[in-house]
Amino acid sequence: MNDEALAAGTVLEERIRRRLGRSLAIREVDAGSCNGCEVEVNSICNAVHDLERFGLRIVASPRHADMLLVTGPVTRNMEKPLLSAYGSAPGRPMVVAMGACAISGGIFRHSYACGNGVSSFLPVDVFIPGCPPRPEAIIFGILVALDKMPAAPAARP
Ligand code: SF4
Repeated sequence: MNDEALAAGTVLEERIRRRLGRSLAIREVDAGSCNGCEVEVNSICNAVHDLERFGLRIVASPRHADMLLVTGPVTRNMEKPLLSAYGSAPGRPMVVAMGACAISGGIFRHSYACGNGVSSFLPVDVFIPGCPPRPEAIIFGILVALDKMPAAPAARP
């Protein structure tokens, strides 16, 4: 792990602990991405960044998620699964739109086959620009989302 990643992870850990008093659970939703964004999501959990050690978990089900991290322009066949993931989360999950496609449709904007980004379907709390965004940008976006998130009762003094 390099020094920058260690510093970012330490900030993330402190912010997650203060907000939630436990790990932050993120459900990644690929809403028609080219997979370029997924490569970068994977990289925040690889040996360089290894953010799981700081209390960030990518979970397999939206039922455990505090946050949806959405990539892709929202293709027609992913509209329902995206809305279903949002509805399945406990409470109102934070929604983070990651990458140019998730922000506005990107290069697929106005295509007959997809929507024009996540905000056409869900309230988005944080937008992370890039095509794809670098891991540092993803970490920064998660930090911004954490600041907007109401503190969990367990984390309150
Ligand atoms: S933003 Fe770029 S990398 Fe991400 S899904 Fe769209 S085209 Fe692919």
